[in-house]
Amino acid sequence: MNAAICLFVSYILPLTDTAMQNAPLTRRRFLQQSSLLAAATVFAGPALLKGRARPLAGVRLGFIGVGLRGRNHVQVAMQLPGVVIKAIADPDPDAIARTQAMLTGASQAQALAFSKGDHDFENLLRRDDIDAVIIATPWEWHTPQAVAAMRAGKPVGLEVPSVVTLKDAWDLVNTHEKTGVHLMCLENVCYRRDVLAVLNMVRQGVLGDIVHLEGGYEHDLREVKFNDGKSFYGNGVEFGEKARSEARWRTAHSVSRNGDLYPTHGLGPVAEMIDLNRGNVMTRLTSYATKSTGLHQYVVDHGGPDHPNAKVKFKLGDIVTTQIACAGGQTILLTHDTNLPRPYSLGFRVQGNRGLWMDVAKSIYVEGVSKPHQWDAFQPWQDKYDHPYWKNEGEKAASAGHGGMDYFVIKEFVESVRERKAPPMDVYDAAAWSAITPLSEASIAAGSKTVDIPDFTRGKWKTRRPVFALT
Ligand code: NAD
Repeated sequence: MNAAICLFVSYILPLTDTAMQNAPLTRRRFLQQSSLLAAATVFAGPALLKGRARPLAGVRLGFIGVGLRGRNHVQVAMQLPGVVIKAIADPDPDAIARTQAMLTGASQAQALAFSKGDHDFENLLRRDDIDAVIIATPWEWHTPQAVAAMRAGKPVGLEVPSVVTLKDAWDLVNTHEKTGVHLMCLENVCYRRDVLAVLNMVRQGVLGDIVHLEGGYEHDLREVKFNDGKSFYGNGVEFGEKARSEARWRTAHSVSRNGDLYPTHGLGPVAEMIDLNRGNVMTRLTSYATKSTGLHQYVVDHGGPDHPNAKVKFKLGDIVTTQIACAGGQTILLTHDTNLPRPYSLGFRVQGNRGLWMDVAKSIYVEGVSKPHQWDAFQPWQDKYDHPYWKNEGEKAASAGHGGMDYFVIKEFVESVRERKAPPMDVYDAAAWSAITPLSEASIAAGSKTVDIPDFTRGKWKTRRPVFALT
């Protein structure tokens, strides 16, 4: 939330008005609070601005990449009313067979399969009986496949990170602007229950004017394993051709790159809290990397000092930290920490001039409400500020992956396709959030020099208005 909105909510709306605080934050109320109603048409999608396009009766989906993540999306999509899993593309026959078995198990028709190599997805894109595609492939395929899909007129749900290079990020933006076809960044963590409750609190001014935010990807990935539902394969020592699933391609990035390789889980949620690309924008960053020890040590400990991979020189620092400055006066600290022993966390911290939330300790402090200098447990606050998405559909979501957030991200993508409207996390978010990777690499390569972050909206951030999770 930008400072002006925050001050308005904090000081003009009485914070003691609990009825107001607890009322669901609707799109209309948010706009009223933010004095933005007059600008409402700015964030209607192009289709709506041209005149109301008729919603699709059903949504026929094509899936490009049906590995672990793609099949997770198939599972969620199968449960949504009016959705047909029309086609799947993946060069791995095992991935195709597993997906078809899932469809059979759910009494659904077999999908058209495109499995003749890396470019067979292009034949999927040529079909006119597919309304949209979901892409969940190795990172280097994301941009070429998303660009091809937009050129073929298919709205895209794109897994994270959306891009590998800065040129990729511009390719996504330029293709969207040229074709008018939408792309949704499938950043599922934006829908996490506590994250949405904190977004609610931020929008209602509970934490005051937000000045600093933190997030990251702090996940011990040394032992990347493949779970086929019966057994686990892999031990983190093998990667590349000899490995399964992500270890086939992901570890290679840690060999050749040094930067924040996975920025969007930490950045997307906090970006929504300070309206990045919609009233605010990231301007510059500086990244630091520690030395690289964790992956090598893991190979030695589990494969022995003579294992061929013990000779591999990993370029990725064990911990990469990136400090980002925003036009609205906030700073963001992102951490990438995947090669050391540690329990999972995304390390969120959202701090304003009236209090702060930290997710690791599941704790919050709100001045004037919490006991001075003491942390409060977060759960009662989460219950109080629970987002309407979770209040209304929490049970349905719970059966989907990652504690329910995967349900909301796919549902919102499908809804944007069905309604032919702009998605809540769009191509500019995809480009800006994922561009942190190449920019952090550039900063580290230049001795932790501060680098400018391109404005992918080309100035439109000044008039674009918040849309995410406004019901
Ligand atoms: P995976 O290796 O299990 O699956 C990737 C699939 O893509 C494989 O089946 C592979 O054969 C297929 N593929 C490779 N090249 C292809 C091509 N040219 N055309 C079509 N298919 C191709 O990996 P995964 O764990 O499913 O990850 C896939 C993506 O999802 C990655 O980008 C990853 O970062 C992302 N992911 C996101 C989350 C999240 O929480 N948002 C979680 C896991 C993975």
